[in-house]
Amino acid sequence: MSAELGKLYVVATPIGNLADISFRAVEVLKGVDLIAAEDTRHVRMLLAHYGIHNKLVSLHQHNEEKIAGSLLEKIRSGLTIALVSDAGTPLISDPGLPLIRRLREEGIEVSPIPGPCALIAALSVSALPVSRFSFEGFAPRTASERKAFFKEKSSSQATWAFYESSHRILASLSDLAEMLPPERRVVIARELTKLHETVVGDRLDRVLAIVEWDENMRKGEFVVMVEGATVEKEQAVTPEQHKLLSVLLRECSIKTAVDMAVEITGARKKLLYQAALAIAERE
Ligand code: SAM
Repeated sequence: MSAELGKLYVVATPIGNLADISFRAVEVLKGVDLIAAEDTRHVRMLLAHYGIHNKLVSLHQHNEEKIAGSLLEKIRSGLTIALVSDAGTPLISDPGLPLIRRLREEGIEVSPIPGPCALIAALSVSALPVSRFSFEGFAPRTASERKAFFKEKSSSQATWAFYESSHRILASLSDLAEMLPPERRVVIARELTKLHETVVGDRLDRVLAIVEWDENMRKGEFVVMVEGATVEKEQAVTPEQHKLLSVLLRECSIKTAVDMAVEITGARKKLLYQAALAIAERE
């Protein structure tokens, strides 16, 4: 690489608590020629907190294709630039991909300054297995797309996680409860590193009840994490079979309810019997 080329730093910033910034992030943000930021007004306040008064240029989802070219030229001419988002690690459900792609295609150095990320912070306290997990970004916005997405994910064996906003957290958990068995473990991490940080982990039906009951649990920013389906749990009854058994158990013995459910659904008797026992125990 030519010595005159500049460089891009991809810098993580706090997701709430302003003390969560690395020494190196502050050093780099002070030392670069220019900072590309998602929302320049927001980032200016953040930077002022650390005594950084550097030049800013705005790079957001609506202009990033266009601006990538001009930033590339600046770096080619020898400038160093830092990319930051409003919070956390850039590119994790945040803008920046077109720029990084172009720089890499041109063989220009792109270097990460690692730090906070809501996803990783949430997983680290979830008590779910995280040696393998998938991150799904934001859940779809409409109920029908969300349900299709949850259905597709329901048999995934690794832990999976998605971001959710306060506007949709209740709708999202309600849709999740329609598509997944009620006993599936779900953890919601809310307002991490902030005053109202809350992490709630329990069976899906209980987590939904908590969020329905407590309006504070619908405020702020959320990471939702879902336990993967174990082989045993993967074979668990579907929400429809669960509902059918619940209704039958109101009127019949376990044996009759299971026999009828086998006849109606064609599912395995042992499976329905175990589910019926669990329902009868709880209700
Ligand atoms: N790039 C960021 C990161 O590294 O986490 C994520 C940006 S994305 C646009 C914003 C979403 O991240 C929020 O809607 C929320 O789902 C999640 N999030 C951000 N900060 C959070 C926090 N303090 N607690 C919980 N979730 C948070």
